Amino acid sequence: MEFVVLGIVLAVVFVAALVTLLRTPTRRELPPPVEAAPPAVAETPAVAVEAPPVVEAPAVLDAPAVAAPATERPPPSAGRLVRLRSRLARSQGTFGRGLLALLSRDTIDEDTWEEVEDTLLTADVGVAATRQLVDNLRTQVKVLGARTPDQVRTMLRDQLLVAVGPDLDRTLHTMPGPDRPAVVLMVGVNGTGKTTTCGKLARALVGDGRTVLLGAADTFRAAAADQLQTWGERVGAEVVRGPEESDPASVAFDAVRRGTEADVDTVLIDTAGRLHTKQGLMDELGKVKRVVERQGPVDEVLLVLDATTGQNGVVQARVFAEVVDVTGIVLTKLDGTAKGGIVIAVQRELGVPVKLVGLGEGPDDLAPFEPEAFVDAILGD
Ligand code: GDP
Repeated sequence: MEFVVLGIVLAVVFVAALVTLLRTPTRRELPPPVEAAPPAVAETPAVAVEAPPVVEAPAVLDAPAVAAPATERPPPSAGRLVRLRSRLARSQGTFGRGLLALLSRDTIDEDTWEEVEDTLLTADVGVAATRQLVDNLRTQVKVLGARTPDQVRTMLRDQLLVAVGPDLDRTLHTMPGPDRPAVVLMVGVNGTGKTTTCGKLARALVGDGRTVLLGAADTFRAAAADQLQTWGERVGAEVVRGPEESDPASVAFDAVRRGTEADVDTVLIDTAGRLHTKQGLMDELGKVKRVVERQGPVDEVLLVLDATTGQNGVVQARVFAEVVDVTGIVLTKLDGTAKGGIVIAVQRELGVPVKLVGLGEGPDDLAPFEPEAFVDAILGD
């Protein structure tokens, strides 16, 4: 009986051992899922990284940045001449340095005065202004007697400033009236930089926080309207244009009407400058101005002159001044000529101040004219 019990016990133990043995491999198979788990955990962060569509949120924030180039925020106009002074110094330096050297000589004889005169004439100061400058300098030299370099510089600076006109009112009338925009007509011979100046001025005004509308009334040169459109688009300024060879006066009229409707601050109108005959110019420009004036006064008529054309520019100025009342002069390309004296000559000729100067082909290379900064650049200060 004891054997039977022992046998049963042994059998139970055997079966239990067998069952245990059979189960073990089953447990060994379990690890794989456990091992597989880490990848699952590893994937979690991946999901987490992807999850931040929050990370994508900046993409949404970035979206306006992508659109931004369409409308730029140009720099304000103040202080530009000082910033661009190196351009003037490069082109006008010889003129100023030449005068300083001549006036610093121990004795200034008649030959030296002739050289002073030639230097001024070469810089396009013009005959009348040169004569007056030389007379004033002669008087100053007599008064001073022996001169230190500082005294020479101060004397020349003062006299050039007087010639440039430090007190002329150079205000650009671009502020709107109570219920109408300011209207600026840009006139000048083709190639002087008229359209470019319209675009640059629009940028400067937008940079100063104004709203601007451009009128492409140079309807004879298809490229001019396209050029203006590009300038306008860059700063978000609307451009009114007409079909090629359409009546410039009607485009100018539409531009002012649209500018009034849209409540912009300033309407800038580019005109055609074909100086074919004086009569033709007179008819065309005179009509543009008259038609625009049906809706209100023209606040500025800016005559654009290319400084590199020298005395020829003065002749052009004379013709335009007979056709329209020029209220201000824009001298372009002053970066490319040593003949900065044209500022003095043209002001004397027209009795109208230089209000803006172009100092390069860059979009912001247009500056309000400041006599002190101009003279200092000439003298290489
Ligand atoms: P428009 O026919 O009078 O309208 O003349 P544009 O505006 O088309 O200009 C004629 C050329 O003069 C263009 O190549 C301009 O980039 C260039 N220009 C305009 N202003 C300046 C300036 O201040 N400096 C220089 N260097 N070039 C200028």
